[in-house]
Amino acid sequence: MANSQIPVCPLMSAGNEIPIICVQERCAWYISNLKKCSMYVVGHNGMLDLKKKLENKND
Ligand code: SF4
Repeated sequence: MANSQIPVCPLMSAGNEIPIICVQERCAWYISNLKKCSMYVVGHNGMLDLKKKLENKND
């Protein structure tokens, strides 16, 4: 059973039968001070922008 606490890399896992674990500091896309993948940060910011636009649309 997979441990949900271990982040799986969606890029390196694509096309693999076995999920590949995030290599964190050894990846150029890892943001050390946030302890997050840059893909996560971009997606998170995109969702916040979308939420803000939807809130403004409903005002
Ligand atoms: S930081 Fe790198 S290895 Fe980790 S999930 Fe993101 S792209 Fe994959």
